[in-house]
Amino acid sequence: MKILYAGSEVLPFSSSGGLADVMGSLPAALKKRDPSSEVCVISPLYSSIDRKYREKMKKTAEFNVRLSWRNQYCGIYSYELDGVTYYFVDNEYYFKRGSLYGDFDDGERFAYFCAAIMEFMAQSGYYPDILHANDWQTALSVIYLKMRHGSEKGFRDVKAVFSIHNILFQGQYDHAIAGDVFDLEPSWAPTVDQNGCINLMKGAVVCADNVVTVSPRYAEEIKTPEYGEGLDPIIRMYSCKLTGILNGIDYTYYDPKTDDSIFRNYTFRSIDRKTDNKTALQKELGLPVSAGTPMISVISRLTDQKGLDLLTDRAEELLCDDVQLVILGCGDSRYEEYFRWLSRKYPDKVAALIKYDKLMSKRIYAASDIFLMPSRFEPCGLSQMIASRYGAVPVVRETGGLYDSIKPYRFVDGKQVGNGFTFAAPDSGDMLYVLRQALGLYRDRDSFRALAVSIMKHDFSWHTSAALYAELYDKILSERHVSQ
Ligand code: ADP
Repeated sequence: MKILYAGSEVLPFSSSGGLADVMGSLPAALKKRDPSSEVCVISPLYSSIDRKYREKMKKTAEFNVRLSWRNQYCGIYSYELDGVTYYFVDNEYYFKRGSLYGDFDDGERFAYFCAAIMEFMAQSGYYPDILHANDWQTALSVIYLKMRHGSEKGFRDVKAVFSIHNILFQGQYDHAIAGDVFDLEPSWAPTVDQNGCINLMKGAVVCADNVVTVSPRYAEEIKTPEYGEGLDPIIRMYSCKLTGILNGIDYTYYDPKTDDSIFRNYTFRSIDRKTDNKTALQKELGLPVSAGTPMISVISRLTDQKGLDLLTDRAEELLCDDVQLVILGCGDSRYEEYFRWLSRKYPDKVAALIKYDKLMSKRIYAASDIFLMPSRFEPCGLSQMIASRYGAVPVVRETGGLYDSIKPYRFVDGKQVGNGFTFAAPDSGDMLYVLRQALGLYRDRDSFRALAVSIMKHDFSWHTSAALYAELYDKILSERHVSQ
């Protein structure tokens, strides 16, 4: 089986959130499961990719890419890691930028990327069995594949899977730029139109052979107006090709036993050493060093999606307790400013790190007792899984992948069940209530320790989910053989 993943970010090369984690770990998990398969990933060659990786990349192709009236250079570089071939699309005009996203011409940048993927297939004769595109940035690769190349030799056998990692970001643009920027033909308008705009995610959902979203619960949620962000009628219409598969995390990259970015390594057997990570981080962040004070952390994009208004509502009430709060994140300025202000007002209780810092995130996971994720919606969520891997007890709102992965701590027939604390409604009072339940358990050292040990043993690796993806790909390919 030949699978080509297309994504706008991939760890360890580029990262701004959970998509990079998935792109950097699912392909390797599939390769490990079936060494005879050929698994490749294609992503932009951003100028921010570390030199240590760039130096080892090999140039494998060079050609021009047509996008409407444009004719642009494209270099293809490759890098081998864990049996997976990573291809990088080089064009400095599009990818030598200060950040991955957020430029006025993001639409054109990713249209170019998708056109380059098609050209790469045509030039190299490399036609995968499955092109697996991820989120709106690669939606056009599915649209071009099916609408433009669907009947061409080589292309016509390629099946397309489209993953929705977050339905909030759909790639919506005015029809006026359909031809000029996206190279869309007028006859495709009904395929890509949603409510009078070009909607790239909608186009990919319509064109793909299968659509995946990143948790079973989110697959149900996005069929509703509450969570569908206006695309719910389309999701309902195409629900027969929709599957929800929970993401996993990379158990090698996130491993407190071997992680060299944390202060002291530990396993569930030596969980008491986790406290050394807490005291070392307290020192580093200038918080009072106190092994017995529970540390609550938030590592997140600072946006409304993440339910941070629930925290800002109750933070000062929470800080009346003997706790420390560590925030790592960046995003909306109102949250950035609020947490900066909170850390100035409560310097002995709050540390606010307003930045994106992968190594610091791991030090915080390792140091924390409790990890808070009060999301308003959460397609899958990886942070609660990473927190569990490092023995920080998750406190989450029951939505999307948080609902699927974290079950409430309780006793059934005298036996402890559950792997965290949860609340149902997006209500700050409910959040504070369960946070205080978690803090109550923290004071019962043995019970809290037992819970932390049990969550560290919970399996959030790709083991189960990679098998579900393999099953899905097998099914798609067996249908292809039947229809031929
Ligand atoms: P999303 O993809 O919506 O941002 P996820 O929970 O799926 O949320 O994934 C977030 C990933 O990004 C996790 O690996 C988390 O540790 C990481 N992350 C979020 N914010 C930061 C930050 N400021 N610094 C470092 N890592 C971060």
